[in-house]
Amino acid sequence: MEPILLYDTTLRDGTQGENISFSADEKLTIAKRLDDIGIHYIEGGWPGSNPRDMHFFEIARREVFRHARLTAFGSTRRPGLSVANDPNLTALLESGAPVVAIFGKTWDLHVQKIMENTLAENLDMIRDTVAYLKQNDREVVYDAEHFFDGYADNRSYALETLQAAVTAGADWVVLCDTNGGSLPHDVDAATRIVAERLTAWCAQNGRPVPGIGIHTHNDSGLALANTLAAVRVGARMVHGTINGYGERCGNVDLTSVIPVLQLKMGRSCVSDTNLTKLKTLSRFISETANQVPSNCRPFVGKSAFAHKGGIHVSAIMKEPRAYEHMDPTLIGNRRRVLVSDLSGKSNVEYKAQELGVSLGGNGFDSRVIVSRIKEMEEQGYQFDVADGTFKIMVEKFTEQFQPLFELESFRVSIEKDKDQPCSAHATIKVAVGESAEITAAEGLGPVSALDNALRKALGRFYPDLDTMRLVDFKVRVIDGRDGTEAKVRVLIESRDQDEIWSTIGVSEDIIEASWQALADSFQYKLAKTDTQVPLAASNQDKADQVTL
Ligand SMILES: [Zn+2]
Repeated sequence: MEPILLYDTTLRDGTQGENISFSADEKLTIAKRLDDIGIHYIEGGWPGSNPRDMHFFEIARREVFRHARLTAFGSTRRPGLSVANDPNLTALLESGAPVVAIFGKTWDLHVQKIMENTLAENLDMIRDTVAYLKQNDREVVYDAEHFFDGYADNRSYALETLQAAVTAGADWVVLCDTNGGSLPHDVDAATRIVAERLTAWCAQNGRPVPGIGIHTHNDSGLALANTLAAVRVGARMVHGTINGYGERCGNVDLTSVIPVLQLKMGRSCVSDTNLTKLKTLSRFISETANQVPSNCRPFVGKSAFAHKGGIHVSAIMKEPRAYEHMDPTLIGNRRRVLVSDLSGKSNVEYKAQELGVSLGGNGFDSRVIVSRIKEMEEQGYQFDVADGTFKIMVEKFTEQFQPLFELESFRVSIEKDKDQPCSAHATIKVAVGESAEITAAEGLGPVSALDNALRKALGRFYPDLDTMRLVDFKVRVIDGRDGTEAKVRVLIESRDQDEIWSTIGVSEDIIEASWQALADSFQYKLAKTDTQVPLAASNQDKADQVTL
C-alpha cells in the first residue's frame, strides 16, 4: 500500500493553541527534531503575518533537512489586488521555502458573509494564486478551508473551488475540517467524491492528478477518526501536530496518527527505527512548549501502558497481549506496573525490578517488604502515584539506600502583613559527605522557600540540579475520621529533561509531609544523574557559608 506523507503544522497551527508559543530558535530546534523522525513536510509559519515567522524562514533556509520539505503558509491573493502586488505572496516567495501552502475559501458563507466578496472573484483568487506560485516553481499545497462545511451547504460551489485550484496546477488538495464538527461517515463520503472528480478533471485537461490531503481539528473528539476515514478512501497526505496542540481543542495528534496508520493499518509513514523516537519527540515538544505532558495521551503518555490491578499484572507477565493492544517499545514507550494496595506480590516485584532495586537484596525477604508497603499504604501512602518514594523506601527496607545528602535541620518562618501577600523564609542545614552547608532562601510559601533553600545548598555539590523542576504539588487531607489526628498527604511531581517522577510524604503536619516528599524528590534526582562522589566544597566556599 502507498505510504502516507506526514505534514506537520505544530509550528503554525499548533501555535494557535492557547498558551503555546515558540521563538524562532525554538521553532528551528523543533523542525530539526521533526526532520529527524522522518516527517515529510514541516509547515514553519506564515511569513506574511509576522516578523517572527519571517525570521524563522531566514534561519531555516540555511539548514539542511534530510527528510522534510520546508513549507510556508499563506492565503490566496487579496480581492482586487494582482498576485504580483500582493505583499503576502511576495513574503511567501521570499521565505525561500520550496513548498507553499495556500488556504482558500471553500464555503460560500465565508465568501459572501464574512469576506463580503463575490463567488466568482473568490474562484479567480484561488486560480491566480496557485498559478502564480506554480510559475515560481513552488510545490503547491492547496488547503480548502472549511471544506466539509462548504460541501454540506453548497456542494457544487465547494467542488468548483477545488477545481479552480486543480486546473491552476495545485500539487495537493487538502480537505480541511476547520471547525472540527464533521463526522467520519461524512468525511468518507465527501472524500470519495473529491477523489472521483479530481481524476475526471485531470483527465479532461491532461494534467497529473493531485494528491488528496486531510486536515482535521478535534472539536468533536473525532479528528483521528476523520483522518483515518479520509485515508481509507484515498487521502495520501495527513496534516497534524505533535501532541495535538492547536486552536481550541487542537489538531489531530500525529503521535496517534503515525502508530495507527503504520502499525494498525499497514500504511508506512516513518521507518521502524524512527517510530521508536515518537515518545521522546512528544516529550520534547511538551517541554519546549512548556506544557505538562498528558499522562493519558494514547501511545506516548506515561500511563498508556501502565497496569494497576493485580490480575492484569500477573496476566501480562505471562502474555503481554492479554492487556496491551500493542508492544509499547515499538513507539519508544514502556510498560509500567503501578504499585498500590490493590496489588499482590507480583506487582511489587515487577516494580522493584523496573526501578532497578533488588527486592531480595542483602538477604531480605520480598514478602516482608510487600507487607511493609501495605502497612505504609494503610497509613496514607499511595505508591502507585509515587515511583520515586517507592524506590527509596525499598532501598531503605533492604539497607541499600545511600543518601546523597542528609538534613541536619531547617527553620521556616512565614510573614503576613495586612494587605500584603504571605512571604516565607527558610534556613536549612544539610550535610553532603564530610561537608556541611547552611543556606537561606525566600519563597512565595513555606514549601517553595524550602525548595529554594535546599536547591541552593545542594547546587554547590551537584550542578546538574539545575535541570530539575517541581511541576506539581498536591495536598490532600486523609483519614479525617479521627478529627485532630487527620493526616495530610503531599504529592510532588518533578521533572528534568528526560523523566517525570513523583514522591510522597504523609504526616499530621503539612510542612513535615512536604519535606518528606521534597527530600525524596531530590534524593531520586541525585541518585539518577550523579552517582559520583560529590564535589567537596572548597575552603573559600566554606568561608562563604556563614554569610549566606
Ligand atoms: Zn487548522
